Amino acid sequence: MKKQGGYSGFRILREGLTGNRGWRPAWRDPEPQPAYDFVIVGGGGHGLATAYYLASRYGEASVAVLEKGWIGGGNVGRNTTIIRSNYLLPGNEPFYEFSLKLWEGLEQDVNYNAMVSQRGVYNLYHSDAQRDAYRRRGNSMILHGADAELLDAAQLRAEIPFLSFDNARFPVRGALVQRRGGTVRHDAVAWGYARGADRRGVDIIQNCEVTGFRIQNGRCTGVETNRGFISARKVGCAVAGSSSRVMQAAGMRLPIESHVLQAFVSEGLKPVIPGVVTFGAGHFYISQSDKGGLVFGGDIDMYNSYAQRGNLPVIEDVCEGGMTLMPMIGRARMVRIWGGIMDMSMDGSPIIDRTPVDGLYFNGGWCYGGFKATPASGYCFAHLLATDTPHETATAFRLDRFRRGMMIDEKGSGAQPNLH
Ligand SMILES: Cc1cc2nc3c(=O)[nH]c(=O)nc-3n(C[C@H](O)[C@H](O)[C@H](O)COP(=O)(O)OP(=O)(O)OC[C@H]3O[C@@H](n4cnc5c(N)ncnc54)[C@H](O)[C@@H]3O)c2cc1C
Repeated sequence: MKKQGGYSGFRILREGLTGNRGWRPAWRDPEPQPAYDFVIVGGGGHGLATAYYLASRYGEASVAVLEKGWIGGGNVGRNTTIIRSNYLLPGNEPFYEFSLKLWEGLEQDVNYNAMVSQRGVYNLYHSDAQRDAYRRRGNSMILHGADAELLDAAQLRAEIPFLSFDNARFPVRGALVQRRGGTVRHDAVAWGYARGADRRGVDIIQNCEVTGFRIQNGRCTGVETNRGFISARKVGCAVAGSSSRVMQAAGMRLPIESHVLQAFVSEGLKPVIPGVVTFGAGHFYISQSDKGGLVFGGDIDMYNSYAQRGNLPVIEDVCEGGMTLMPMIGRARMVRIWGGIMDMSMDGSPIIDRTPVDGLYFNGGWCYGGFKATPASGYCFAHLLATDTPHETATAFRLDRFRRGMMIDEKGSGAQPNLH
């Protein structure tokens, strides 16, 4: 197949004038080779980003991504597109800030329009105690080099006047704002990384399910797939909601539970929501897509599941949250709902680590916040795979932290995955 060229304004002009005959598929469709240096299991955002950084930053040429379905069919194409780095704890904040910085240069880096939009993330507070907690969080963010601003009700009203400020039960008292946060077109992230990795020689193999690991004398030597055995020097798993099932095939039991999270999109409306707004007295968050649809979500469905569809009680709960926060939403018609499988860890924080099996590495436990982590997760996992040492921003994300009591419990919810 002829190699694809780069994307640019000039190229669009030239193709437009010559009948658009020069475009090529954004990535190849190669047959799996019998052996690679690195096999990445899972072609979601994290797996593709890992392959991209392995090739682009660590100069690794022999890399394959094995995806059981199609690129973008998992959570990377199902999330509500929010990016931010508004974390409190030292284990988390530097990592998520690193990720936000990578988002800021991503489109130029991968030469793909991912519609990175830093339209701001507003976390609303509804009481003095919540304001104080947000002030602490904002100070922690600033100390770690992120941006944060605390708005009072009058300042917030000037920016988002339609919120339910005078609601007797949950009056909006202000917001912690991260102006560099925002949204990114989710599936374009998968396509951009896939294309960037493919251009650097990575084989992206779709419809290739990993069914087992070949482990000899404590060392992983490759993966069994529905397309045959593929040998690898190192195997990295980034399968998000399928983490427990896939790692079970390597004899591991993870501190992770899978739950469904649903997303909702309304009919297209004129621009009304300036950024991402999160309700502080319930679980509801909302933004507006560039096509005009209101994109919103809330809690996970509170039962364990591997299904990519959710249930009615959470739909009702999310809509109630929306109506409490901005009653005008009741006029909008909902047009799409879907679900994704969340890999909920016991402290709400992720894992990027080696496993007890030599040559086998694990990336997961992203809960419902892994989209924003995609660039840093890929970078740090690539670093670990290439160097066998954790990246400096991901040293806390160890697999054995639950045994050692070194939890990174951002929300103080305890070992309850459905509360994170
Ligand atoms: C509704 C919803 C809203 C969300 N909103 C946000 C948000 O606003 N902000 C945010 O930061 N995060 C959000 N998230 C979370 C985020 O989407 C995930 O944490 C993140 O996408 C997970 O990483 P991933 O992209 O690699 O996962 P995925 O895209 O799910 O990739 C994993 C891949 O592994 C593949 N796979 C599984 N088993 C195998 C196997 N045996 N062999 C080969 N391949 C296999 C799957 O097919 C899948 O493609 C949301 C998630 C959902 C579902």
